[in-house]
Formats: sequence, C-alpha cells, structure tokens
Amino acid sequence: MIRYINYGGADGITGACHMISTEYGNILLDCGLFQGKDMKIHSNLDLYFDPHEIDAVVLSHAHIDHCGRVPILYEMGYKGKVYGTKATKLLSEVVLEESSRIFEEFSGETYKLFNSENVQMFLDNYVEINYMEKTEIIDNVFVELFDAGHLLGSASILVIVDDKTVFYSGDIGKLNTPILKDPQKGVGADYAIIESTYGSLAEHESNDFFDKFQDIVLNTLKRGGKCLIPSATVGKMQEILYLINDIFEQNDLSYKVYIDSPMSTKIIDIYEKCKDLYDEDALQKLSEGDDPLDFTNLCYLTTKEESIEAQESQDPYVVLSGGGMCEGGRIVYHLRKHVSDPKTSIILVGNQVQGTLGWRLFKGNKEVKIFRDKFEVKAEIYNFPSLSGHGDRNTIVDYVHSMNKSPKKIFLVHGDRKSQMDMREHLINKNVEYTKFLKRYELR
Ligand SMILES: [Zn+2]
Repeated sequence: MIRYINYGGADGITGACHMISTEYGNILLDCGLFQGKDMKIHSNLDLYFDPHEIDAVVLSHAHIDHCGRVPILYEMGYKGKVYGTKATKLLSEVVLEESSRIFEEFSGETYKLFNSENVQMFLDNYVEINYMEKTEIIDNVFVELFDAGHLLGSASILVIVDDKTVFYSGDIGKLNTPILKDPQKGVGADYAIIESTYGSLAEHESNDFFDKFQDIVLNTLKRGGKCLIPSATVGKMQEILYLINDIFEQNDLSYKVYIDSPMSTKIIDIYEKCKDLYDEDALQKLSEGDDPLDFTNLCYLTTKEESIEAQESQDPYVVLSGGGMCEGGRIVYHLRKHVSDPKTSIILVGNQVQGTLGWRLFKGNKEVKIFRDKFEVKAEIYNFPSLSGHGDRNTIVDYVHSMNKSPKKIFLVHGDRKSQMDMREHLINKNVEYTKFLKRYELR
C-alpha cells in the first residue's frame, strides 16, 4: 500500500514537502523552506520525520520554497540522491548558495539553517533527468517529469509504483509566460496532488497588459524619469527582461537598462545553457539571430559601486532589481533615491504581501519609511499582479480536467483553505481532499 503524508505546503504556499511512502521505500517530492507567515507556524528545522528513513528526493523546481530544506536534510543525516531536471540543479545551486552565504554573513545562529558544505552535498548527490524519461529512483519506484511552465526546468512529477500512480503538479505556470512553454497537460494518475495558489482568482488580467506596460515604460523614459522594477531574481526578472527587450527593440530606444543584482549574471548564464527549454517565440527569435535576453544598452551591475553610480545618474533608465516586494535587495537603494521624484515610475509585479514596503506603495501610502528615513511618495505606482508565476484557477481547472485518467482523489495543496474550497467548487471531480499537515492518507 502507498501512503501520502504532507510535511509542508498543505494549507500554505511555502514549505512544499510531500512524502510518498511505499513498501519499497520512502520518497520526498520537494523539500522547501517555510517562508513569511508559514514560518511563524512551522519551524524549518522540525522535519517531523527521520531523514535516514528517506530513500530519494525528487524536486519540482528551484524556488527556495520547494528546494530550500534539502541541504538541511543532508545536515541531519540524509545520504540519498536528489532527482530533477538539469535547469533545476543549476538554478538551485545559485539559490541555495546565495541563501547559505546570507546565513553565514548576516544571521545569528538561530537562522543558520544550512551551510555551503550542505549545499555541496546536495550538488554531489544530484541526478539530472530529462522530461518524459521514466527513471527508476529506488527499486520498483519510477518517476517521470513533465514541463510545468512555471520556471526554467520546472516539472510536474508522476510517481509509478507497481500498478499505481501518483501525480504531483508542483507549481503550475501561467499560460503565455515569456520564454517558458505552457504547462504540459494530459497526464493523469490514480491520485493527484494539485497546487491551488490562485484557487480564488478565476482569471489573471489578460495578456494585453503588455501594451499598458509598454506605455508606462515609454512615457516615463520620455519625460526623463526612471522605471524602477522590483522583481524576484530567479525567473521573474528574466521574463520581464524579455518584455523590456521587445519594447526597446520595437521602439529603437537608446536609454540604459540596468540589471542590478549580484546573482543575476549567474542566472542569465543558466538561461544561456538551457535554451533548448525555451518556448516557440523565444526559439524563433534565437533562430533569427536575436537573443531575447540581450540587447544594446543592457548593463549588468554586479558591484555595489556600479549600483551607486547608476542610482546617481541624471539620465532616464530602467532598472530591474532583486527584492520583489521591496523588502530587501538593491531596489531599496533606487527607491530611496527616486521615490520622491514625480518623474519616476515604480512598476510592481506579482502579489505584494501585506506589511511589505511593496504593499504600502501599492496601497498608495503618501509617505514610506525606508530603513530609518521617511520619504514622500511622489513617484507613479503601477501594479501588474498578472505577471505571476502561477496559473489562475481556470488554468488549473482545465489542467485537471484534461488529465487522461480521472484521479480517485485530488489532494489540494499550496493554497489557503478559501482558495482550496473555491477550486473544488469548479472541479467536476468532487472527490477532493483539503490536505492536512502530517495526516497519513492511504492510497489504495
Ligand atoms: Zn515556484
């Protein structure tokens, strides 16, 4: 008999960790960090299982809320392998090394979750597998990965044990995301573990947001202002860069575009190495000799000095910088410098969590505190929540309905209870479980 036990991400969107327990051994699908409010409920160091009892780990993608507890597993005695795509390995390496560097450099003992040695063990034990290549990970247990369209190398995972199958969606991407292919549909299983982040949002804003986005960028630059775009460095930043590339090439602009993030050059190198994963439009551009992530006037700022020089510049510019909700990263320094200039535009992308600086700007606060100083907000603030990495409810419902086998049960995860209930409302198959943390489900 197979059992499914959730060790994270049951009713919150971070800390994804799903155990499939079989007579042949136990496997983990993802083992991510709890972040934000989930971290107040769950400790990242209390695993609730013995890492020695795990026989294999399979990763859906490289976001820290899906891979960030794997180095902790190694620290606590895990000796097995980690399976996933090549892009997931390359991106996780950057993400985890950056985290361990931050732990070592800035945090007190209590927050030192893992170190660079643990990350090295993760890398040494990583086994790359391709999409749609059935792979035996422990005796009699096979997995197959399918493009989830959420991040470069992201995957949904099909687990095959004897004559039974369990499908885990991982994070499912938004349709028509730049660079990425749409999520691969049609795979079904006896049981399905499905994400529900946007269970309460029927549809993202339509894709004609590009025209609005373009108008904002053009108007700001033409009036001599600066476009400040805070963004997550892994994935989102490259997708926005793709759009900026289109705007600059279509309008023949000669302003500077800065990527102000020390990590971003490593990420862009990974995109270079994994071009085979690009969608049709991006491949088309490449075949015409146009790299969709590179153009004249694009500058990577790696050192602090280069960043300061850019911030001081009198000329209009566009800057993409780490810190999606303006809570950290170099974007904060650009904000301090230019938030009180009415010529500036701040373009927020994705969801802004309550209490963050991004949220206060989004809410229209006329004054904000950045570090210890108060600043008057005179910049124009725009918000593009639809530039999200997650598919809306219609996308996920369609994804489930297109499965080639209707699951006996659907476990909804990675969403709050309201999102899960709203999602269930719209599914034809009502045999839905609002997954509970630590509960053992028997999959007969
Ligand atoms: Zn993700």
